[in-house]
Amino acid sequence: MQLSKYPRVKLIHSPTPLEHLENLTKKLGGPEIYIKRDDCTGLAFGGNKSRKLEFLIGDALDKNADVVITAGAVQSNHCRQTAAAATKFGLECIIVARPSWSKDYNGNIFLDELLGAELVLIDEDGEALDKGGKLSMDDTIDNIMQDLKDKGKNPYFIPVGGSNQIGSLGYISMTMEMISQANDMGIEIGSMVAASGSGGTQTGMILGADVEKSGIDAVGMGISSDASVVIPKLKDLCNETSKYYDLGLSYEDDDIIFNDNYIGEGYGIPSEEMIEAVKLLARTEGIILDPVYSGKAFAGMIDLVKKGHFDESKALVFIHTGGTPALFVYSNSFREYL
Ligand SMILES: *Cc1c(COP(=O)(O)O)cnc(C)c1O
Repeated sequence: MQLSKYPRVKLIHSPTPLEHLENLTKKLGGPEIYIKRDDCTGLAFGGNKSRKLEFLIGDALDKNADVVITAGAVQSNHCRQTAAAATKFGLECIIVARPSWSKDYNGNIFLDELLGAELVLIDEDGEALDKGGKLSMDDTIDNIMQDLKDKGKNPYFIPVGGSNQIGSLGYISMTMEMISQANDMGIEIGSMVAASGSGGTQTGMILGADVEKSGIDAVGMGISSDASVVIPKLKDLCNETSKYYDLGLSYEDDDIIFNDNYIGEGYGIPSEEMIEAVKLLARTEGIILDPVYSGKAFAGMIDLVKKGHFDESKALVFIHTGGTPALFVYSNSFREYL
């Protein structure tokens, strides 16, 4: 697959390191564990969304957009990275944000404003108070888009998490990059594991592994919704993306490896396993995870390693998708465990 055919801007430090977690591997005694440092993509504290945004902002500029609009939770890493990417390319950025577990003005929401984005806040019921009437998130976005068009602007909409066919290219690219690193290092990867939310990351991993005919399992760890909801969406995004780029791949529900056993009480709600997993990686390797995504995904991966789930003759790679600015709004939940 020739990624150079598609509009793209340069946002990230790449390749991101593929590091051996020697201490952790020794401690757990399962397969050799590696980590792909996509927390180090570089733009405004890094994270996975910057890979998608290379293609999304590329497409926005290709279409002569002057404003980007996106949406997410108040602590959305996607919104923070979109604000940074837009600023870098001279685009205005409007963020529609809904409340999340933490009410603090800190972490990502603070960074969104620091990066110059305009925030439109949605209330607890998922509705924005806009000019006297209550509006859903989608209606709020539609209204903002229409307002901008009426003013002669050319807005570009980026969906929640940047998860569409264009954004998915970012993780096809990551997978190709990782396979090339693994080849150089002389390691054979059996599975790669990442937190999976809006689906663009895992879609890119699945398609990337398949276009490269690598045989690597792309395992998604749930952080929000049940498998019964997520798997059909992932399958659809994989099929749509394959069709869009004429990759000739097709997927059924059974082809999608997604695990919803480590979500805990819900999106953004801290779990004890998450806190223990974040502590474990911090104290064995000095690497910081986030409480909403990578912490829960890592907790799941550790548990599966302990249960002997992964092939011990092949390397296991954890894709660190970033999110660390949100950790600071969770410090009080961690405190009693430290
Ligand atoms: C958004 C995000 C994910 C999930 O990526 P999706 O493409 O939405 O599935 C994982 N980890 C972090 C830190 C994120 O911000």
